[in-house]
Amino acid sequence: MPYVIAGPCIDVMDKSCTEECPVDCIYEGDRKLYINPKECIDCGACEPVCPVEAISQDRRVPPSDIEFVDDNRRFFLEVLSGRQAPLGAPGGSHKVGPLGVDTPMVSER
Ligand code: SF4
Ligand code: SF4
Repeated sequence: MPYVIAGPCIDVMDKSCTEECPVDCIYEGDRKLYINPKECIDCGACEPVCPVEAISQDRRVPPSDIEFVDDNRRFFLEVLSGRQAPLGAPGGSHKVGPLGVDTPMVSER
């Protein structure tokens, strides 16, 4: 059960979570960060450091933010605006750097 970043991260993005992740699976979009569900090892280290409580395990995401569970997945599986292919599972966010793009759902907020 991977962890998920929900709405409160939008436009906050302080990146405390990325420093805690032992597998570097938290990727930076334009206005929000996204956890790669294929790479997350469910360690929970990121959850307590988020100042806006945006992170939780997918089955514990608040009902008001439930759409972010699928949206985190979409960030990696769909071709994002301006890109040629889905991001997939590149094996580390520091390798790819900030992506500068969000899912359509986040962009429209
Ligand atoms: S739960 Fe662990 S592996 Fe998953 S994103 Fe958070 S810190 Fe990284
Ligand atoms: S710690 Fe929370 S607000 Fe900061 S980047 Fe991570 S998820 Fe977003």
